[in-house]
Amino acid sequence: MSEEIKKFICVSCPLGCGLSVTLDGQGEVTNVEGNSCPRGKAYAESEVKDPRRVFASTVRVSGGKLPVCPIRSKTPAPKTKLFDIAREVAKLDVKAPLEIGQVLIHNVCGTDVDIVASRDLAAI
Ligand code: SF4
Repeated sequence: MSEEIKKFICVSCPLGCGLSVTLDGQGEVTNVEGNSCPRGKAYAESEVKDPRRVFASTVRVSGGKLPVCPIRSKTPAPKTKLFDIAREVAKLDVKAPLEIGQVLIHNVCGTDVDIVASRDLAAI
């Protein structure tokens, strides 16, 4: 198999360096260019082998001072599972009060990632 070059933007910081990643025929990263720091190289390798994103959304809340609460994944989740995670989150109807960081779904969709509340939300 032949060498392949993938290009994407590093999202590890606001600088947004343009990365050029060279893969060998087996899909292994052989070179990374365009990164301004080591985090860019680590991001490039992760993006090629196991792309992940922080999932963020809102959930319905019963008995709270607000009807919805922002939530997010505690750690980045596999990009391929984001739609499955969105479906699971859509089923939630949590009860106030909530505390920031409170786990609402443990190990969502078998990803080893927890879904947590992004803010405190008091009960009525
Ligand atoms: S390579 Fe380094 S400096 Fe460039 S966007 Fe990524 S983290 Fe920021």
